[in-house]
Amino acid sequence: MTSKAKSIRLSKRLDEVGFSDIVQIRNKVLELRASGKQVHAFHGGEPFFETPDCIKYANLRALVDNKTRYAPSSGIEPLRAAIAKKLETKNHIEAGVDDVIVTSGGAHALHVAFEAVLDPGDDVLVFAPFWTPIKDMVTLAQARPVMVPTLEHFSTPATRAIYYNTPQNPSGLVFSRSEAEEVAAFARKHHLIVIADEAYEDLVYEGEHFSIASLPGMAERTITAYTFSKTYAMTGWRAGYAVAKEPFMTGLRKLVLYSTNGVSTPTQWAALEAMSLQEATIAARRDEYRQRRNLLVKGLCELGLECEIPAGAFYAFPSVRKIDKDSRRAAAQLLDKANVATIPGVVFGAQGEGHVRFSYAVPLEAISAGLEALRKVLD
Ligand code: PMP
Repeated sequence: MTSKAKSIRLSKRLDEVGFSDIVQIRNKVLELRASGKQVHAFHGGEPFFETPDCIKYANLRALVDNKTRYAPSSGIEPLRAAIAKKLETKNHIEAGVDDVIVTSGGAHALHVAFEAVLDPGDDVLVFAPFWTPIKDMVTLAQARPVMVPTLEHFSTPATRAIYYNTPQNPSGLVFSRSEAEEVAAFARKHHLIVIADEAYEDLVYEGEHFSIASLPGMAERTITAYTFSKTYAMTGWRAGYAVAKEPFMTGLRKLVLYSTNGVSTPTQWAALEAMSLQEATIAARRDEYRQRRNLLVKGLCELGLECEIPAGAFYAFPSVRKIDKDSRRAAAQLLDKANVATIPGVVFGAQGEGHVRFSYAVPLEAISAGLEALRKVLD
């Protein structure tokens, strides 16, 4: 190889970092649609409703009022203050304005959290099945994701952090308070950091959402990531936030400063408006999701695709062993024969094999039509 060819290459850090399979499936569905096929789309991860108008108008108002200049890279003060108040009242996490940082979505909050605390050679425990980008984010931070079955305790001298996601994507599992206490005791005993992902905090149908950082001795060892994407149907706005104490917050600030230099200013004013939406509005949406969950899970069970009732998030994770024990082949069959798009469980880790993920963040009629299409090929 010439020295020129040797230098025209990506950094080695990116060698093991993949593109999510989910994106590849999304592209396949787009292709099928472009060729005129009607696809029953259960593969996505976006709310079924539109961003509420009051949030859109707040964005417009910010533009018209010329709130279009650089903002502090960690976020505008009124937004961070509103978030701190919400964290105290709703999540029972002790937080002041300076413990909050605004990020470009939950994904960015998680990325900067991993980058802030991990060194090359560190291990991160990830309860599996897990949201796939986590593996790549941990790898990008030059650390190693170690997949463990839910709540299994495992630690080596290299273990540095635990990724703790509740409600969980893809299983819909919601960790109870006593499970959080168990994980927290383990983290304290082994001096581990917890990266908590509460993207779906408002979508809990059974039991209650519980924030691990609210437990004694946990605020100082936890970075919790949140997003506006799911609760407020703001996936495309790219707005989220993280809460953490020092020394982590300084790390998060540096990483946000040198990656995005903050979230777009008008978007932050829109996010502030979102924070003022009533809990009753959020609860009404939750009821709509519950209705969708019940319809989908009942239909899948009737078709012999065994499915536990997910307690949270907006995904069902049925067994597809009846179709094929290899979840990639099962998902391919569902797409080819029934035009039903799902995500093979194995992309969420080996523990997800034998399952596929259906999102029920779709209209009720779309669920009925998808079940009908499945019935024709499975009955
Ligand atoms: N965590 C989990 C578990 C998710 O499923 C998602 C989105 N699919 C996110 C975080 C991040 O979402 P966003 O970047 O849109 O805020």
